Amino acid sequence: MIMKLSLYIAGPVAGLAVIMTACNTNTNIFLQEWDTPYGTAPFSKISQEDYLPAFREGIKEEKANVQAIIDCKDAPTFENTILALENSSPILDKVTGVFFNLSESDSTPQMQAIEEEILPELTAASNEIYMNPDLFARVKAVYENQEGLTREQQMVVKKVYQGFERNGVGLEGEAKARFAEISTRLASLSQKFGQNLLAENNAFKEATGITVSEYYDFMGSCPDREKRKAVFEAYSTRGNHGNEFDNNAVVLEALKLRAEMAQLLGYPSFAAFQLSDKMAGSSETVDAFLQPIMDASMRKAKADMKEMAKLAGHKIEAWDYSYYAEKLRAQKYALDESQTKPYFQADSVLKGVFTAAEMIYGIKIEPAPEVEVYNPAASAYKLTDADGSLIGIFYKDYYVRDTKRGGAWMNNFREQKTGVRPIIVNVCNFPAPGEDPTDAQPSLLTIDNVQTAFHEFGHALHGFLSQCNYVTVSGTSVARDFVETFSQFNENFAFVPEILAVYAKDYRTGEPIPAELVAKIRKGLSFNQGFMCGELCAASILDMKWHELSASELEAFNGPDDIRAFEAKVCKEMGLIDEIIPRYRTTYFNHIMGSGYSAGYYGYLWSEVLSDDAWEKFLADGVFNKATADGFRKTFLERGGSEEPMVLYKSWRGADPDPAALTRARGLE
Ligand SMILES: [Zn+2]
Repeated sequence: MIMKLSLYIAGPVAGLAVIMTACNTNTNIFLQEWDTPYGTAPFSKISQEDYLPAFREGIKEEKANVQAIIDCKDAPTFENTILALENSSPILDKVTGVFFNLSESDSTPQMQAIEEEILPELTAASNEIYMNPDLFARVKAVYENQEGLTREQQMVVKKVYQGFERNGVGLEGEAKARFAEISTRLASLSQKFGQNLLAENNAFKEATGITVSEYYDFMGSCPDREKRKAVFEAYSTRGNHGNEFDNNAVVLEALKLRAEMAQLLGYPSFAAFQLSDKMAGSSETVDAFLQPIMDASMRKAKADMKEMAKLAGHKIEAWDYSYYAEKLRAQKYALDESQTKPYFQADSVLKGVFTAAEMIYGIKIEPAPEVEVYNPAASAYKLTDADGSLIGIFYKDYYVRDTKRGGAWMNNFREQKTGVRPIIVNVCNFPAPGEDPTDAQPSLLTIDNVQTAFHEFGHALHGFLSQCNYVTVSGTSVARDFVETFSQFNENFAFVPEILAVYAKDYRTGEPIPAELVAKIRKGLSFNQGFMCGELCAASILDMKWHELSASELEAFNGPDDIRAFEAKVCKEMGLIDEIIPRYRTTYFNHIMGSGYSAGYYGYLWSEVLSDDAWEKFLADGVFNKATADGFRKTFLERGGSEEPMVLYKSWRGADPDPAALTRARGLE
């Protein structure tokens, strides 16, 4: 997953000349220059009391800078309007970069309170900018006369222009006021959803003794059927318990407001609005893309289930699926994860992740003990290029803790642009190593965890290797249905023999993983794809179907029962079998409620076509073929959103991607 602070176009920390408001005498850390290695945040000097005043000072500064753009007497140009806007909020960039990272990965009740207080103010400030007709007039003037602009500048202008349009700048009177009201409320609802889910995830752990991120591992390995059923029920009803953390009302209000917002902008549904600036273009295209993948997945799942029922001697229920899938995997490939885990100690896996990037792209990654970290469990690294130049600073924060939201993600503390290298974090929820030094349990990863580590670092590489001039289009600032391309592509390197040889060593003896075990892992990768691809595809369709509803259709929805009934209907229509549920159900679907994948979860599968097709070329040319990797990096990976994704892809690949690459890669045909 990738996290984006999507409230506004976040600029870099080190901006161009900007108007500074008079607050340098203040002791607030966010209002001072950071005299730190590479301009990284001085976490130990940050006090929670610094956040709110810094946010407010930042909003003031941004307002003044934006006013200066509006008041500019010169004719609008890229520099005095678009670029000036990108650089209008240095303080906000600094404080949001830190705060919204930590509020996800190392939150406290105090931070949650700050978040609740500041979000409406931030949204209001952002609305004031993006709904300002005078500012938009200048942006529009640049948009309408792009003579002399580079292709990258044109892409920046287009994105900024669309940003205004999509933020309702064209609205007037009541509609305009309503739009602003809706976006403020939506930001709060999204926050509320995440906070409820964090509480529900912690309650799940209390009730079951396992964390949410251990769920799949548990379901695949627990022999006690009753216990599995209880865990399945607790997991699949999160946010749906009718208690203070119930998310039904939050979801329903958000869906209705999104549909209303889209309608105000002239779109029939939120899906139509969301898709209008994506690669796929329309929700009909997405529906037509997903259904065949769903059908292929269900064919495979049904075939697998027949074999599983034979093994079980009874009908397979939803809480049996993963357990007997693992039994079947063990039978077919003689592989169970207790054999592989000792080779996947978290620190070694990280070494593998780094080595793969070093081998493919010719870069170097080394510890950076001089860089401060925000939590003792995190660590910092420095990336340099073959010529010794700095690529960026990386924080790794792998282990589960109560202050961390569930899941795994990449985020920026600072984004790349001319003269500024990025600072990027990967946050995961892998099992934490034991603390008792006399009996320290290492953190041993599942095969899925290993893939996650490579996935998130793929996002990091997209940010790190970026060679763009403007943050608006640099690194991962690309369309949602393109952004999962490099992350999924990077997963391919996890089980390449040359990389495994580097990192997959028994933590007790240092023995390398036996070749026959590697062969089993590789064969097993396409196993259970009926389930895995099926639940992913089901969640993608569920997301799309919710957001294809118009405001008037949503009027008929009044409460939890309506939400459950719709979810059941959608699952039936897509052909999802009862034994599989969507990877996320509505009340715990944080991607679409809390983090910007609304009507966009399909983007994983959509991007996967590009990543699978790219991988076929790597396989054909030799995985470590330098010319292939260099071309991939220079013409595709480094280019961010400086050109349309498909243009970039074809300039490297020389052809359109083959959609069937996905079903081939997943062994579904
Ligand atoms: Zn991702």
